[in-house]
Amino acid sequence: MKGFSTKAIHGARTKKDAHGSLRAPIYESVSFAAETARDLQLSFEGKRPAHAYSRISNPTVEDFEQKVRLLSDGLAVLATASGMAAISNLLLTLAQTGSNIVTSKHLFGNTVSLFERSLQPWGLEVRYVDMTRPSELAQAIDAQTALVFLEIITNPQLEVADISALSQITAEKGVPLVLDGTMTTPYAFKSKDFGVNVEIISSTKYISGGGTGIGGLIIDNGNFDWKKSPKLAEAAKKMGPMALMATLRTGVFRDTGACLSPQNAYMQALGLETLALRIEASSANSLGIARFLEDHPKVEAVNYPGLKSSPFHLIAQAQFRHLFGGVLTFDLTSQEDCYKVIDALKLIKRATNINDNKTMIIHPYSTIFTEYEREKKLAMGVRPTLLRLSVGIEDNVDIKDDLEQALEAL
Ligand code: PLP
Repeated sequence: MKGFSTKAIHGARTKKDAHGSLRAPIYESVSFAAETARDLQLSFEGKRPAHAYSRISNPTVEDFEQKVRLLSDGLAVLATASGMAAISNLLLTLAQTGSNIVTSKHLFGNTVSLFERSLQPWGLEVRYVDMTRPSELAQAIDAQTALVFLEIITNPQLEVADISALSQITAEKGVPLVLDGTMTTPYAFKSKDFGVNVEIISSTKYISGGGTGIGGLIIDNGNFDWKKSPKLAEAAKKMGPMALMATLRTGVFRDTGACLSPQNAYMQALGLETLALRIEASSANSLGIARFLEDHPKVEAVNYPGLKSSPFHLIAQAQFRHLFGGVLTFDLTSQEDCYKVIDALKLIKRATNINDNKTMIIHPYSTIFTEYEREKKLAMGVRPTLLRLSVGIEDNVDIKDDLEQALEAL
């Protein structure tokens, strides 16, 4: 099997079904019986590959994980309850009191909150650099750096960094490079080919597709020597390349109960089958809508990596081929005008999510980033005049017509 969609549809079914069911069943079962006490002992010791309790592993979730592994070409995958669970579990596994992480100011709002409000009080230092200037990254890393974290297309600034340049630095320094690849997924950007060590994905977005359920993924690309990570050095002596995954599954992931439900794993494995089609469709729609908005007299500015006017167009083109993703932002002259346009929309949903089949609009300043002071929001590029549009896979003409009639409200 060579093609992404063929693998997504046919690949990595872990067990043959007793009835020949073409779709893997949903194992809604908390526990799984062993034949003998010895078998149970071996599975608790991790010496017998078998499912015992669904907070740790489950056959339906495993099918989903194996599909993602095949598509990403990674070493191992752990599915989690949400994208935030993936990020927090990874951080709690790799960092400790006294360590620091190097990241960007341009991050999803809840990720900033996780770093600053939830983890900083436990002794984690958060260092911010401009990831579009690799030399800043090199200077910020020191012996206490547990990991470097960035988003592939920042949300909502839509900034794209040169990942190969960054991974060259992290490899030299011996620090893992962690990428939130939610906006691209392995279809548009195979992070392993660019030297990323661990990829995090909120599968709530493109992978679930229809916005059916919350989920997350941790993908270990298998290209980092975990002996170099202070928290995993001991585990790496015993488990080698599997040190991260094994430590997660029998550590923070198990202990925080961050598991994905079998029902959601089923829905997301189904979403994977059409992922390529949907990314192609939403990227093409986004480019069309970005060009339409760029030419509109009432729109002050449009930001989309697919537009030649984006400062990140060339690097995005080099890294993502023709797929610039399904999210764009545009500015009007005031917050009041933003509200007027949002309220005049008839088809496009006033809702918070990205990469759904449905097109959605939100005013990030007054919603996702509401908990931050004005100055901090401005520093993050979140202006009162900014609207974020997540472009779905409806017919382009209908999205455009809705925006056109709504802009007439100004
Ligand atoms: N990462 C990015 C880039 C996101 O946009 C989001 C959610 O919007 C998340 C992570 C968090 O994902 P979840 O909502 O699945 O926890």
